[in-house]
Amino acid sequence: MAEIEREAMEYDVVIVGAGPAGLSAAIRLKQLDADLNVVVLEKGSEVGAHILSGAVLDPCGLDALIPDWKEKGAPLTVPVKEDNFYMLGEAGQIRIPNFPMPPLMNNHGNYIVSMGNVCRWMAEQAEELGVEIFPGMACSELVYGDNGEVKGVVAGVFGLEQDGSYGPNTEPGMELHGKYVFLSEGVRGSLAKEVIAKYDLQAGKEPQKFGVGMKEIWEVDPAKHKEGTVTHTMGWPLGSNAGGGSFIYHLDNNQVYVGFVVHLNYKNPHLFPYMEFQRFKHHPVVADLLKGGKRVAYGARAITEGGYQSMPKMVAPGVALLGCSVGMVNVPRIKGNHNAMLSGKAAAEAAHDAIKAERSGDELSDYEVEVRTGPIGSDLKKVRNVKPIWSKWGLTASLMLGGLDMWTNTFGFSLFGTVNHGKNDADSTGKAADYQPIDYPKPDGVLSFDRLTNVSFAATNHEESQPCHLRLADPNIPVNVNLPQFDEPAQRYCPAGVYEVVEKDGKPDFVVNFQNCVHCKTCDIKDPSQNITWVTPQGGDGPNYPNM
Ligand SMILES: Cc1cc2nc3c(=O)[nH]c(=O)nc-3n(C[C@H](O)[C@H](O)[C@H](O)COP(=O)(O)OP(=O)(O)OC[C@H]3O[C@@H](n4cnc5c(N)ncnc54)[C@H](O)[C@@H]3O)c2cc1C
Repeated sequence: MAEIEREAMEYDVVIVGAGPAGLSAAIRLKQLDADLNVVVLEKGSEVGAHILSGAVLDPCGLDALIPDWKEKGAPLTVPVKEDNFYMLGEAGQIRIPNFPMPPLMNNHGNYIVSMGNVCRWMAEQAEELGVEIFPGMACSELVYGDNGEVKGVVAGVFGLEQDGSYGPNTEPGMELHGKYVFLSEGVRGSLAKEVIAKYDLQAGKEPQKFGVGMKEIWEVDPAKHKEGTVTHTMGWPLGSNAGGGSFIYHLDNNQVYVGFVVHLNYKNPHLFPYMEFQRFKHHPVVADLLKGGKRVAYGARAITEGGYQSMPKMVAPGVALLGCSVGMVNVPRIKGNHNAMLSGKAAAEAAHDAIKAERSGDELSDYEVEVRTGPIGSDLKKVRNVKPIWSKWGLTASLMLGGLDMWTNTFGFSLFGTVNHGKNDADSTGKAADYQPIDYPKPDGVLSFDRLTNVSFAATNHEESQPCHLRLADPNIPVNVNLPQFDEPAQRYCPAGVYEVVEKDGKPDFVVNFQNCVHCKTCDIKDPSQNITWVTPQGGDGPNYPNM
């Protein structure tokens, strides 16, 4: 194929992804120097279209970035008023009182928000400062300089032929070059994955760990709505099959976020995370709330869970990884947005200093030092053992020992040192023959829904004429390896029903319905053969979340 000719545009800093990390970086750069040229590229059709969080927001990140956010009309209008924590059994529940919880678990001072709307508002603040923001522009490739440094990205490739080649209607996109490139793609970023591999950034660190989070927005009976109430549950229905739990957040306008997270290191390949979520809504504590209401939106996204010991080196020549492209979620708090914002601010400050000193294309080591030793590191270090204790010894141990460890860490020490995570999530998957299939009740269409019906509430869309953005390194592995050994778990771990095994000419056939994809990246993480690579489809494709 002939060399592709692309126009190039020069910036000081190129930022991939308009989530809380990327937008904070853009805002901070312009606050520090209004003359810096800063561009943010976002694959969603608009800022916020691909944002999915719980979300209870700890405002410490926003306080540091835009101290007068209240006066500026930030959409943080629902303060947390009540915090509940339940351990569920199949038909009942035990309320765990708040007093034994370490102070960091307290949600007082936090806000129930739509992070999509917070990002939309942050984008307005950034644009007022002069940041250029281009939604609908997926960054599909990195551009390397002569010395092997990252010098930019390719964005805006549209209309590829179905086999991925260039045809008469292909727009080749453009190169955006920067003195520094920030990858703030969120969890399992596709370009971040390339950078981590190319520069061996995970070396000497624990493997990154993940969960899959699924979320519905419900409009409930006003009589049952309690604005500002936060509820978390553990236990049923997952039991000892997997780590995870639920969140139920009452925002305003009689809306409630109902979500469920399943840790992706589960062993039983028959486990069906989506159906666990649907089953969970039939627990009396949840069903009573939802009866008479209606589900108005659905979405899913992976969540980073490796924490402090899994953060890769986050800088390489010309490039820095931000937010959940590094993995900055505080797992017991289920919160990462505040750290994403703080990381954006720290990366911007390091890049600003470097550019002022006429540097470019090198490593922003000051950024990494700030993340590890500043407020982000301190937030994550205190809780570093909760997830590995849970994975190794189960939920009860995690509540007792993990709770104790969070308490002692509050006073600056741990009895456990740093517990390792062990295997990555793909390698944790056991053989189908060694585990019992799980019988899931059929969704009733009132409280629980089948996957495809729910996916229609994510308003996801991918041009059918486009190449499949879920690439199989070896197309035979699903049927020849994954099916006999693992009962092809892609049929179940994908929360959008992208993967199916059907019968064709009397033989099993693996089908990839990429049009359904909600960009959660679970397949890229959990496939036991590590045969699936999620690459970005063309800009504007994917979910269109409202106020997720
Ligand atoms: C179910 C769930 C519940 C959660 N609950 C909470 C909570 O209550 N509180 C909390 O603080 N945190 C919560 N989190 C964690 C929080 O969502 C993350 O920590 C946060 O989103 C990280 O921000 P980010 O900016 O790094 O990435 P993201 O918010 O994921 O933003 C990344 C952006 O980059 C874009 N992008 C990605 N790749 C490309 C590309 N190649 N080209 C162009 N654009 C690209 C994406 O479309 C997206 O808009 C939750 C997460 C999940 C999944």
